[in-house]
Amino acid sequence: MTATDNGRLGLLLDIDGVLYVEKQPIDGAREALERLRGMSAGLRLLTNTTSRSRREVFEQLQAMGFEVSLQEVLTPAAMAVRHCRERGHGSVALLVGEKLREDLSELEPWSPGGERQPDAVILGDLGEGFTPAVLNDAFRLIMDGAELIALQHNRYWRRGDGLALDVGAYAAALEYATGHEALVVGKPAGEFFAAALSDLGVEHAVMVGDDVEADVGGAMDAGLPGILVRTGKFRHDALTARVTPTAIVDSIVDVPELLERLPPI
Ligand SMILES: [Mg+2]
Repeated sequence: MTATDNGRLGLLLDIDGVLYVEKQPIDGAREALERLRGMSAGLRLLTNTTSRSRREVFEQLQAMGFEVSLQEVLTPAAMAVRHCRERGHGSVALLVGEKLREDLSELEPWSPGGERQPDAVILGDLGEGFTPAVLNDAFRLIMDGAELIALQHNRYWRRGDGLALDVGAYAAALEYATGHEALVVGKPAGEFFAAALSDLGVEHAVMVGDDVEADVGGAMDAGLPGILVRTGKFRHDALTARVTPTAIVDSIVDVPELLERLPPI
């Protein structure tokens, strides 16, 4: 018996750094994805990308030749909308890039000078827009009672010119200054993994990612095996004592064979 024998194993994959790096598909990733789809009860692509909409992530994958559907792509924005709905939030301040707004269109955007204070601040990727003034405005809103919702809490990511600060670094600055911990809706939040399982209609899944904390640690905290790939942002010194991946492989190309060797989950 192996992990995939009962046919009810879901596959959760991170996108950036697992399927492609810097807009170039990883060698053999398209074929590996197809193999994994055939071996599993279905797959979901869990990205913490907050610079592009869900539709853009999907279109980019298609343009690179990955055969995926829009439904298979899950992003933190949808989780944020769900959370705001559950909490009955009215207007929310959106510190997110222009492209992400379509995924948050169900929410009522707050603008400065309005009568009411926003119920929440949603923190995504503002890139160069993360100026001291913007961060200070967010700091004041949180001090006045707005909930800080971070779309993700990654420390850094790898872009064309090298490593770059990610949303988690800015969230940490606001957390430190306000004394309020952010609610994180992307990986490593357990709710994100749970939503993916429920979407797939399975109880068990394996997560594959290049971020040892958000992907692998998050999945393992949610009770799922976590496989770390040595592509994308992988760095030896990122292997912390806190997270011991279920397995480490050179790339997604090695995952089908690994699943054939893993014992039932
Ligand atoms: Mg990644």
